[in-house]
Amino acid sequence: MVDCLDEAPETARQALLERVAAEIRETGEATGCCELSGRVWHALAAVPRHRFVPDEQQKWAYANTPLPIGRGQTISQPFIVALMTELLAPAPGATLLEIGTGSGYQAAVLAQLVRQVYSIERIPELARAAAQRLHELSIDNVEIRVGDGAQGWKEHAPFDGIMVTAAALTVPPALVQQLKPGGRLVIPVGESGQTQDLQVIDKDQQGAVFSRSLLPVVFVPLIQNLA
Ligand code: SAH
Repeated sequence: MVDCLDEAPETARQALLERVAAEIRETGEATGCCELSGRVWHALAAVPRHRFVPDEQQKWAYANTPLPIGRGQTISQPFIVALMTELLAPAPGATLLEIGTGSGYQAAVLAQLVRQVYSIERIPELARAAAQRLHELSIDNVEIRVGDGAQGWKEHAPFDGIMVTAAALTVPPALVQQLKPGGRLVIPVGESGQTQDLQVIDKDQQGAVFSRSLLPVVFVPLIQNLA
């Protein structure tokens, strides 16, 4: 792994963005997303990833790789954050739901692009730390709550887009229900411990649902059926 924080964070972040843009191009045939858009580029450039990783991982904060964030969880690989953000293609006025707040990094990136982000995390100490980080960075359009994300967040539904950043065995029906007509769900589906399918699920204006698989990905599991 390249030790990326020998450079200034801004230089390292720029180099990371170049690598992410290259990987987006290389996987474009499978994903249908051939270019990193200017909007997503700027959103990634605006969020200091080193503020979302633990002290002992600082050296690798701008490597294009997932990193441990404690409690057996990970902050996703920057390429995957970029790709899932592109796939959601959020409009500036959108309201989004994220499942699996983790470090809060993905939520912070989405917050640059839309009006409001809601994010659910099942581990209270991760949720607390993420909320604190977002507060310190003056990102005030993300609301985090502790709970089972598979149930969605009824009070704020329906959503323009929903992103799940943990691997689900099956697509939670509540999340499909809580999508607006014309909305999109981006979710890794499959067992943990092996690769999962990154799926895009679109709900059309009549409420019909269409899904497609894009590429293999690796996520920590979405813990479902919590008491
Ligand atoms: N988006 C995060 C990375 C997510 S890692 C980031 O940018 O850092 C996946 C997260 O999903 C973990 O923090 C895990 O605790 C959480 N998770 C797993 N099952 C969940 C569930 N049922 N509801 C909410 N969060 C869940």
